[in-house]
Order: sequence, then C-alpha cells, then structure tokens
Amino acid sequence: MRSILDSLTIHNLGIAAALFGGFVLFLFIGSRVVPGKTLEGVPMPDGTRQKYRMNGLYLYLLTVAILGAAQYFKWFSLSIVVRYYWPLFVVANVFAFTLTGILYVKGRRAGAPLHGHVIVDSFMGTEVNPTWLGVDLKMFAYRPSLIGLGVINWSFAAVQYEALGALTTRMWLYQVFYFLYLTNYFQFEYGMIYTWDIIAEKFGWMLVWGDYVLVPFFYSIPAWYLVANFAPLPLWAAPALAALWLVGFVIFRGTNEQKHQYKANPKTKIWGKPAEAIGGKLLVSGFWGIGRKLNYTGELCMYYAWTIPCGLHSIVPFLLPLWLTFFFPHRAWRDEQRCKAKYGELWTAYCARARFRMIPFIY
Ligand code: NDP
Repeated sequence: MRSILDSLTIHNLGIAAALFGGFVLFLFIGSRVVPGKTLEGVPMPDGTRQKYRMNGLYLYLLTVAILGAAQYFKWFSLSIVVRYYWPLFVVANVFAFTLTGILYVKGRRAGAPLHGHVIVDSFMGTEVNPTWLGVDLKMFAYRPSLIGLGVINWSFAAVQYEALGALTTRMWLYQVFYFLYLTNYFQFEYGMIYTWDIIAEKFGWMLVWGDYVLVPFFYSIPAWYLVANFAPLPLWAAPALAALWLVGFVIFRGTNEQKHQYKANPKTKIWGKPAEAIGGKLLVSGFWGIGRKLNYTGELCMYYAWTIPCGLHSIVPFLLPLWLTFFFPHRAWRDEQRCKAKYGELWTAYCARARFRMIPFIY
C-alpha cells in the first residue's frame, strides 16, 4: 500500500496523464480517419439508425505494429505501462468520472428522458447513443478498453522479457491465448451492433467505468501473477490448456456467429443445412439446438485456459473467471426471463428442444 501511495507523485501522475490521454486521443482520431465499412445500427424508437465505422481491427493492428516496432527498435519499452501502473489507474478513474459528468450534462442539454435523480442518471446514463464529432462514444469505448487490456498484458510480458531475456511457457500461453481472443473480437466487431449493451443500454458510469477501468486493469491481473512465476509446467499442461482454449473459442465464436448470421439473413445455412427456427424467430440449428447459452460456456473455457498458467498459489488471478462462473448463469437466467416475456409460447417450445443452458445433460 505504501509503495502504491509513494508512486502517486505529481510527476508520475503527469506522465500517466500524458500516456493515457495520448492513447485515447490516438484511438479517437484513428476512429475518425482510419477507413472502415460504415454500418447502420438497429432502428431506435424514434426511427433513426446510428452509424458505426467498423475500423477497430485496423486500429488494433496499427497499435500492435507501432508498439511492436517501438519495442523491437528500442524507441521505448512497453514496460513503462507497468512502471506507471498505479498513476495510470488513478488517471483512468479521474477520466471515467469526468466523462460520466460530461455525459450527464450532455444528456440533460439534449433533453434525454431522465430518471430524475442525478446519481441514478449518472450511474445508468442519459443517452443510448451519445455522439461526439461523428463518433459513437459507447461503441468507441470498447477500443481503449480492449486495446488497453492488450497493452497492459504486453507490458507485463515486456517486464518479464527485460528481467529474464525470454518469456516463460506460462507467459507465452497467456499472451497467445489473449492476443488471439482480442484479435478475433475486432475481426467480428460488427457483431456488437446486435448486442444488448449497444442497442438498449444508456452510456453512464456503469459502462464508462467498466470500459475504461475495470476491463483493462482488472482483466489483466493474471499477467501480473505470471511475471514472477518461473515454475516449469508439466509436459501435458500446454497441450491440455491449448485444447481447452480451442474448444472454448470454437464454441464461443461459433454460437455468436451463428446467431449473428441468422439475424442478418434468416435463410443462412448452419453446418451445411438451412437454418431452422421455432416460429421463424428462435434458432434451433447448430449450437443453439444443443444449448441455450453455449456462448457463455465457450467464453468461460477461454478465461480458465489463460488463468490456469498462474498456478494455484493465489486466488486473486482466478477472481475474474470465478466471478464469471457465477455471473453467467445469473445473466442467462435474467436473459431467459426477458425472452420468456418477449416470445411467450415460442420460448417454451424452444426450451423443450434445447433443454440445457450451458452444459448439455448437466445444466
Ligand atoms: P446473447 O448473445 O446470448 O444474446 C441474448 C439474446 O439473443 C436474447 O435476449 C435474444 O434476444 C437472443 N436469442 C436468445 N436465444 C436465441 C435463439 N435461440 N435464436 C435467436 N435469438 C436468440 O447474450 P449476451 O448479449 O449476454 O452476450 C453476448 C456475448 O458477450 C456472449 O458471447 C458473452 O459470452 C459475452 N459477454 C462477455 C462478458 C465478459 O465480461 N467477458 C460479459 C457479458 C457478455 P432477441 O430479443 O434479439 O431475440
């Protein structure tokens, strides 16, 4: 605790503000100028459709290329992010709270429907699609969030490399699994348009803080634990973890992509056959006929695959997968209540076909 407080000097906070501000500004300008396909969101209650420029993958790869070159040619070391970790954490919090305030004032001025209490409206948000200089701020926030998570991960790798002259197998597994996961997210960034958060949630503190603080700083905790974990892995562990990750990835990406393709084109083919849907609305082909929430199961497998290399000495790196293990069944239950209310008898018929939620024959 003492060392954390000692690191929060004006000098360090100034450097952290420059790093954080430069990073967010780079991504914001990039979101405006880097080419990408423009897609329209689902119609809003007033009939308008938000426009999104899908250039996240280029921005992600551009960031990887710039930081990779900087590291390789020794322009600067990525380990700077870990050295200024706590000042960056403080700056990210200040940014998140300031942005929440700005969004609240912006929503009020725009005449957005309010709950009426400043705390509730700041927490939940006032506008669904706050936009600045043509950029949808909610969709944009996923970029500093997930690219930021990647940067913090790579920074921990840089720290280990500078200390050892190499990366441990544990660190390699973590980095490769996470890198592929993040790359894949940006490759399928367009799928975000049909998610609940983008369609319906207002952009308030809950999402702002989640994107700018929780995801980059909390999700990267396993990397912290891996920096000083030099214990060799048993021979079977790397292939077993790679298999767990791959199974999770195939299920996660497969389920999300099948639903996305079906929503975009109900006549699409799934596993070589025309998509079958109950009442023309609820997909029962592919993964969606095996389980109702296999996308959550797949994601969980990936989280465990990149956390297990930390070893079992501490529970801290496992806090996130453990939390998701409880959060996903609860979210699945909440979503099913929503679907039951929306689809009525069709939902009951769907549950009779796809009897299990996350683990066939068990749950
Ligand atoms: P889903 O992608 O499962 O979306 C649920 C919605 O899909 C339902 O409300 C319903 O909406 C529609 N739907 C459900 N069943 C069917 C069906 N059989 N056929 C057609 N449509 C159906 O859930 P989420 O939005 O919660 O999650 C999206 C992704 O984000 C998941 O992969 C999840 O793992 C991930 N996630 C990750 C988190 C993390 O912290 N890492 C946190 C939360 C989510 P409609 O009204 O459109 O029909």
